[in-house]
Amino acid sequence: MTEMKSPPRHGLGRGCVITRRACFSASHRYWLPEFSADDNAARFGPCALAPGHGHNYELIVSMAGGLDSDGMVLNLSDVKHAIRSEVTGQLDFRFLNDVWPEFDVSTPGGCLPTTEALVRAMWQRLSPHLPITALRLYEQPGLWADYLGHPMDAFLTIRTHFAAAHRLARPELSQEENERIYGKCARPHGHGHNYLVDVTVRGSIDARTGMVCDLSALQRLVDDLVVEPFDHTFLNKDVPFFADCVPTAENIALHIADRLSTPVRAIGAHLHKIRLQESPNNAAEVYAEVPQLEMTPAALDAVAAI
Ligand SMILES: [Zn+2]
Ligand SMILES: [Zn+2]
Repeated sequence: MTEMKSPPRHGLGRGCVITRRACFSASHRYWLPEFSADDNAARFGPCALAPGHGHNYELIVSMAGGLDSDGMVLNLSDVKHAIRSEVTGQLDFRFLNDVWPEFDVSTPGGCLPTTEALVRAMWQRLSPHLPITALRLYEQPGLWADYLGHPMDAFLTIRTHFAAAHRLARPELSQEENERIYGKCARPHGHGHNYLVDVTVRGSIDARTGMVCDLSALQRLVDDLVVEPFDHTFLNKDVPFFADCVPTAENIALHIADRLSTPVRAIGAHLHKIRLQESPNNAAEVYAEVPQLEMTPAALDAVAAI
């Protein structure tokens, strides 16, 4: 009689986070009936135009759990089916204002289908079916919202870019010493990067506008306080702060956070994070809220990984 070998149980019961991506296309319009046409246009800009406009949305679903005897947290085909039946299948090629009752603004409880209001509604619809830990919804590559299930908090990120030159060198050191520390980045006449800046704000979603903050006001702040003063400059010479602060990616990210923190409060949100990508090979992330590192929601890292 041959001895039966029990199959290997890789990781049985051990915890793991998995992510799944799903895409859909939909249209929406920002229009509140209690405002005049002029007020709607002033508040929401071209987003108020009839009959609306569309986006190719991308949803990242992050889920956690212990591995089963098949080596999976969940069967991916069940995950795919749940996301499609509860969310993307209902929204794909639809006018978002009309699909879900949350976005019926003719009722007092309705709000506009913004990215952050949509991702919260998706959480409410998916959480009874899947062990979700975080959701990220991209409206476009430069605008996305994260939701971690805390009713009061959503995260909204806008991505922008600027081009600038810099030189990494401490003035009190010799050229040789600077090159030993900073390598080629210490060469005397500088070099440049196309910087990508992700600005993440946190706040509660307004019951009526569906917004964490006025998106165009946030974009204006980032343009006025970061892009305009930094774009096409030699940072060391053109931005006074870097006259005596070495403009490493870390220092630039911190300086952007310092510039934006108070103005973001003034538009009703909290500056949560700045991510500055200097090149495809390096980036710096700064958490603007205190205590800094404890504010890093591990769940956000999972959705960001895709
Ligand atoms: Zn839109
Ligand atoms: Zn550099």
